Amino acid sequence: MNLLNADLHCHSVVSDGTLEPEALAARAKTNGVKLWSLTDHDEIGGQQRARDAALALGLDYLSGAEISVSFAGITVHIVGLGFDVDDEQLHRGLLATRGGRGARAREMSDELAKVGIKGAYEGALKYVGNPELIGRTHFARYLVETGVCSDTYEVFRRYLADGKPGHVPHRWAGLGDAVRWISEAGGMAVIAHPGRYKFTPTEEYALFTEFIAHGGRGVEVVTGSHSRAEYQKYADTALEFGLLASRGSDFHSPDESHTDLGTLPDLPGQLTPVWQALQHRIQRA
Ligand code: AMP
Ligand code: MN
Ligand code: MN
Ligand code: MN
Repeated sequence: MNLLNADLHCHSVVSDGTLEPEALAARAKTNGVKLWSLTDHDEIGGQQRARDAALALGLDYLSGAEISVSFAGITVHIVGLGFDVDDEQLHRGLLATRGGRGARAREMSDELAKVGIKGAYEGALKYVGNPELIGRTHFARYLVETGVCSDTYEVFRRYLADGKPGHVPHRWAGLGDAVRWISEAGGMAVIAHPGRYKFTPTEEYALFTEFIAHGGRGVEVVTGSHSRAEYQKYADTALEFGLLASRGSDFHSPDESHTDLGTLPDLPGQLTPVWQALQHRIQRA
């Protein structure tokens, strides 16, 4: 069960990836993925295309999304898997979460202008596939295009990470709201890449306990955003909190991502994978 090549986290042009859902499905297939999910940020507009392409290629599919949440003053991502894509409460929640992105992007542009980078809003827009989903990655691509930085990682380090000149604090969904939207739509909520948040141990403990109290059931253990030491750390955390374990590349682009679809190590054997509890939600090829 743990040896299934499942990739349950990636992004298309519907959010901040550079490939169409069909191209991602084909890439997953080529790389040996058997169970796949497209998890665009705050948006499920690509789900039907992803599912249709997956099933046509013989890949099993789980519906997916990655919801932006504010917790203890930090942005946390919650992946939802296996929900009903027609659920109205989920649609409304995602629409509201997307809502602030336009104004945030203009503010980011104003902040970047103060450090000498002009026209960033218009520049970022060129990379946006879905105008409601403008985000930091689109700005990063523009700053690489104009030679301000040599890759998107450098842009985040110098301009877009928390506390840097182009970072604009933002209020996303509440943790409990995101978990509820997913769960009440029949899906499973999973904490995305916990190793990326700069929490103290106390804050991290609070995140996990509150997440579980709201009905969250899974945590990403093996992800493109974790080091090998973090695989072990969050495997231990999953066991400690009785959470199911997920695996996903967080692939965005052939030109940018360090981890390709379907190429991560398997989940450690002592963990129970999320897909074991989602069997009834998998759409079979
Ligand atoms: P946003 O939702 O607009 O805040 O953008 C978040 C996205 O930015 C993430 O999903 C990643 O795709 C990207 N991102 C965040 N931090 C980094 C980083 N340090 N290096 C590269 N990409 C990052
Ligand atoms: Mn992203
Ligand atoms: Mn994320
Ligand atoms: Mn992601």
